[in-house]
Amino acid sequence: MSTHDTPLAPLADALGDRLLTPDHPAFAETTTVFVGGPPRTPAAVARVRSAAEIATALAAAQEAGLPVAVRAGGHHQSRHALVDGGLVLDLRLLDGVEIDAAAGVGRAQGGALAGPYTAAAGEHGLATGFGDTGSVGVAGITLGGGIGYLSRRYGLTVDNLLGAEVVLADGRVVRADADENPDLYWALRGGGGNFGVVTRLDLRLHEVGTVTGGMMMWEPSPEGLATILRTLAEGPEELSGMVNVMLAPPAPMVPEELRGKPVLMALLCHSGSDAAATLAPLRELKPLLDGVAELPYPGLFGGGGPAPGGIGDLRTGFLGEGTWSPDEAWATAAIEAVSAAPGPAAVNIRPMGGAIARVDAAATAFAHRDPAFMVSVGGNALASDGLPAAQEWTATAADALGVEGRGYVNFMGTATQDDVRNAYPEPTLARLREIKRTYDPENTFASTHNILP
Ligand SMILES: Cc1cc2nc3c(=O)[nH]c(=O)nc-3n(C[C@H](O)[C@H](O)[C@H](O)COP(=O)(O)OP(=O)(O)OC[C@H]3O[C@@H](n4cnc5c(N)ncnc54)[C@H](O)[C@@H]3O)c2cc1C
Repeated sequence: MSTHDTPLAPLADALGDRLLTPDHPAFAETTTVFVGGPPRTPAAVARVRSAAEIATALAAAQEAGLPVAVRAGGHHQSRHALVDGGLVLDLRLLDGVEIDAAAGVGRAQGGALAGPYTAAAGEHGLATGFGDTGSVGVAGITLGGGIGYLSRRYGLTVDNLLGAEVVLADGRVVRADADENPDLYWALRGGGGNFGVVTRLDLRLHEVGTVTGGMMMWEPSPEGLATILRTLAEGPEELSGMVNVMLAPPAPMVPEELRGKPVLMALLCHSGSDAAATLAPLRELKPLLDGVAELPYPGLFGGGGPAPGGIGDLRTGFLGEGTWSPDEAWATAAIEAVSAAPGPAAVNIRPMGGAIARVDAAATAFAHRDPAFMVSVGGNALASDGLPAAQEWTATAADALGVEGRGYVNFMGTATQDDVRNAYPEPTLARLREIKRTYDPENTFASTHNILP
């Protein structure tokens, strides 16, 4: 297909060979994302390089009546980055990162990834907390919330967003921060990709040099899991991380005899000085593997290679409050669920609290400030005919573990209006809709957990 003589012709003139149609050799790569699934074939992909080109692309899509999707790291489980028959704005050429150590601010363009940003900041002994994976997009993780290795100490990524530059649906380029368009600034901190294309994010940097972190793995015992979770909930704020109840992956560091067997696997980061004492209860559980050691913070963000293309479902909810942690009965249910999964599966448990809980629930569009834990249940399949069984397992396991009712938009495998209502408490959703009517009244940015105008 050629864009010549179509409503996309002006865009083809502006972008040249950076407007890709399905016959282009690079089209398959630009439309491959981290999670696999039924084919979604966009009409074209615009590999934009500036806010001006984004505005041109948005105008062309509107003129052509095409739906729009925004793609950066390509990691969202709901595959928002692809829209059938629409125009994908691929931001990956907009990947600049600037670390202003003197000002304590990191500036990332809209398609930058967490790994390169973390490496650049690390050269100055500084960091902004994202998640645990370097190939995730900075904007994508930030717009949904951003929970990871530094969250209990320095808050979610949204709590460190100082301001952003945004291309709105009508092509205007605006600033959103505490002084300019504060309503948009509020909405960007949890409201996802609903309001415009973010071309720059200004993020607060913290002094984070050498940390104690890495992976530990244990036998799947309920007492052990309850102890690990209690240690995380009650530990100092310098300790963040996550625990997976999962089938051991075929990774190089995992001994052959453990692969495919249920295990407890934690990814940990202690950014303070008393790590040995804090981690002692975890070591008393006699880990099968203990890779936790001192290392420069960016060392935790290794890997994050090409898209694995796995197919699956993902549900997320929140449990408890304060320093509460799940008991052995809950731990037993988690281990039993994973042991009975029809394919690769994990229950992922992340401690919250600390700096996350010190932010008022109304201060940002991410409103889940009180819970003690975020719990995600993910069932996967090796091929598409295994998807129904993976979905059924995910739903059953999520119900058994009390993962229901409220969710985190960055960890949701579906994007229905029920999911949107689950992700945002009523007052938050009402305010998001009001702001959507101001900044995107025609709902141009719908390929996301869509806030309806
Ligand atoms: C392996 C893996 C590990 C993860 N780990 C964590 C973690 O530790 N913590 C955590 O909180 N989350 C984590 N996530 C979830 C991740 O934060 C979300 O999936 C996020 O949306 C990914 O952003 P992306 O750019 O990579 O994905 P994409 O699929 O490219 O983007 C997702 C959506 O975000 C929006 N978006 C992205 N960039 C822009 C932009 N510049 N302007 C406007 N909208 C934009 C768009 O709606 C887009 O469709 C993980 C996901 C995976 C697959």
